[in-house]
Parts: sequence; structure tokens; C-alpha cells
Amino acid sequence: MSPPALPSFPKVATAVAVTLTLAAVTAFGTAPLREVELPPLQTIVESVAIAPALRSAEAEPASLQQYARSERIRRGETLASLLDRLGATDVDFQKFIAADRQARKLMQLQAGRTVNALIDEAGRVQSLQYRYTHLDSESDEPVQPTGRVTIRRVDDGFTASDEPIALERQVAVAVAEIRTSLFAAIDAAGIPEAVATRIADILDGEVDFNRDLRRGDLLRVVYEAIRESDSLDPPTIGRILALEFTINGTRHEAVWFDREGSERGEYFSFDGRSLRKAFLQHPVEFSRISSGFSHARMHPILKYTREHKGVDFAAPIGTKVRSSGDGVVEFVGQQRGYGNLVEIRHRNGISTLYAHLNGFAPGLSKGAKVAQGAVIGYVGTTGWSTGPHLHYEFKVAGEQVDPLSVVLPPAAPLDASERAQFAARTAGLRTRLAQADGIVRLARFE
Ligand SMILES: [Zn+2]
Repeated sequence: MSPPALPSFPKVATAVAVTLTLAAVTAFGTAPLREVELPPLQTIVESVAIAPALRSAEAEPASLQQYARSERIRRGETLASLLDRLGATDVDFQKFIAADRQARKLMQLQAGRTVNALIDEAGRVQSLQYRYTHLDSESDEPVQPTGRVTIRRVDDGFTASDEPIALERQVAVAVAEIRTSLFAAIDAAGIPEAVATRIADILDGEVDFNRDLRRGDLLRVVYEAIRESDSLDPPTIGRILALEFTINGTRHEAVWFDREGSERGEYFSFDGRSLRKAFLQHPVEFSRISSGFSHARMHPILKYTREHKGVDFAAPIGTKVRSSGDGVVEFVGQQRGYGNLVEIRHRNGISTLYAHLNGFAPGLSKGAKVAQGAVIGYVGTTGWSTGPHLHYEFKVAGEQVDPLSVVLPPAAPLDASERAQFAARTAGLRTRLAQADGIVRLARFE
């Protein structure tokens, strides 16, 4: 008997192919940038075409009936709970996973990843495929290679192989019109949630997304969507390349530009003014769950006063708390009143303090370097706290001050040669934004 065919899920694949075709009309509608290839609809068609292989395997029945199963890995998943949901009761498989160097990658159990498996009637794993990634969705850093571990049952046990997966970087153009909320608008436009979170960071200090949005506000955005060449998983979001957001009559704009010699790219206004801030004003991540929370629960954001000496951000327990600036961890632990606390030391005698946390980011320790926006912990209500919120302090030379009152030196402006580069390299992105209106008209026309 030939080895069992890998699971292929023709029905799922077809459904996704249809969704992609629709997305191609709305989000990927215009011509791509020169260096980027069109969405690989062909690739999807190929993965649908795996179906005949499965059929031929079915035509030659195995001694035990096999079932193709697919499960998405949950947060806090264990191998046992995953196998349970896949319908497998296979001690030998678990032993193999623990012992084999390549198979052990399955133990990463990255939440959100899909595991495909063929399970036989006896609950034994015949084959299983797990895709993993080193991709850091928290940052705009370049995407690392991803891989696929395949484990197959053979006569006397299992074999495991690990192969790299090619990534396809697509450029998506999308338009969203606010009717009720930012998240409702991006959902309607088929824009991933991570895009909204990033936009909130890019425009941090200019826009308060919990208060400023009005019905009819219009977002145009160009972003990278990174897809594994033969995966059905939704794409991961790369960089936001350009955006234009008209909010309550004011136009906000940003375009990504990688200055020569700089460690990382930054955002600029279309006329070349850096949008980079030394400190984020909102250390609590703006997300679907946190949006609107301050209006619904507890007191609204409590501002800095001489008595309070900090700024309180109401947010649900578990919301990500990020370092507001580049720095070094000075303290991680508990302090009476403050509960779980992180303190970060920055340049120029500035330090920031994050209190009442539910927990800390994994591996965070004293002396660790953190970049602006890096997750350091999660909102909680530990210590002397009346409800879930972040208590945030900004200290200059050890004295608490109002973070909004501190005047920080602006980012260095572009020099003449950088300006020329900026103009040349961002022109295409601005064209894409302008073309986005065509997509809106198309959508309305339909
Ligand atoms: Zn407070």
C-alpha cells in the first residue's frame, strides 16, 4: 500500500479560493508595485488540485478508515489537548514528538496556526502537518523564513521532515469608511485587525481613536500582506506602507521610509516630516477589545494631577502594555500598592513605570533592552486598584511629571539627499493611495 496521502481538504480550499477572489477585487484591485507580484491565485488553484490525489488514495481503501482533520491551535494549547480535538489517542505519536528533534517543533504550538492531520479509526495519527513561523507580528521587522513539519506513520514508527516554506509578499490597498467604529469599518472592508492597531500607533499623539472618530471619516491604506505560498492560513500583516485618514475634517497621512543608515524605517508625513515620537502617548495597545472600553467601564482616562502623579488607562484585563520608548528594564516584580510593576529607564534621565499589571511579557527581566512598542506586560488590577487599568508614570530625574507636558527634541529632519530619495521612493505609494478611490467607486457601483 502506498503511504497515506497528506490531508488536502478540497472543500476548505475551494471556500478560501473564493474568498481570495473577492478580496482580489476589493483589496488587491489595482496594479501592484513593481517589486511585488500579483496575489497568487494560481497557487490557490494548485492547492485545490491536490484533490485527485486524495481521491485515488480513497479508491484504494486502507485497512482502517482515515479521517482528514484540521484544527486551529488555541492560546495555551497543549499537545494532549490538540490531539484530543483532532480525535487522536496515540501515545506512540506523543512519544515520538518528545524524542525527535524535527517533530519536536510541533511543541511550539503557535496559537492561530492550523494543524492538518489524517487520523485513522483507531485514533492513531497517520500523518500530521504543522506550519511554524519565526515571524514577529509585533514589529515591522523583516519577515523570517517559515517552515513546515510533516510527520508520517511508517512501518515501525514515524518519520519527520522539516522544510522551508516560501513567503509571498503582497501589497494590499484598502479603503474603509467609518460608520460606527474603526473595527466595524475595517471588518466591512476586509482589512485585518492588526492594520488598525498599527495605524493607531503610527498616528499616536495625533489622534485618539477612542474619541475622535466620526461617522463618514475615511481611511485609505496600503499595507503588506504576507502569505505562505501554499497555506490556507490568513496572511500575516507586514508593514503599513502608506495611509491617509481623514478624521473629523482633518487629514492625517503617513508613509513608510527607510532612511539610509537608520536601524529601522520610520513614518513621515507626505511632505517629509518624521512622525516618530520619542515616547508613545498610549502604552496600552489599541485593539478590538480595548477600543471604547474607557467609555464603558470605570472612570474615563484619569489624567496626571499633582495628587495622582500618573495617567490611568482603563482597558480589559489581558490587553497588551507596551514600552512607550526605547530603553532598558530597571525593575520587574511586585511592589506594594503598585501590584505587578515594570519600570523602564530611557535616555536623558527619563524613566517610565507601568503598574497593576496582570502579568509580565515572557522572559522580561532586569537589564533587558526593550524597543518602543515592545510588549512588556498585560493590563490587570493587582495592587491597590479598583478595576482593570494601567497606571502609567513618566519620570524625569526621578520626579513624576505629566508626559504630555514634556517637550522632547523632534526627530532629525531629512537632509537634501534624503529628501530626494524620499520623494522618489514614496511617489509610488502615494499613487496607490490615490488609486484607492477607484476601489471605493467600484465597491459602491456594485
Ligand atoms: Zn493611577
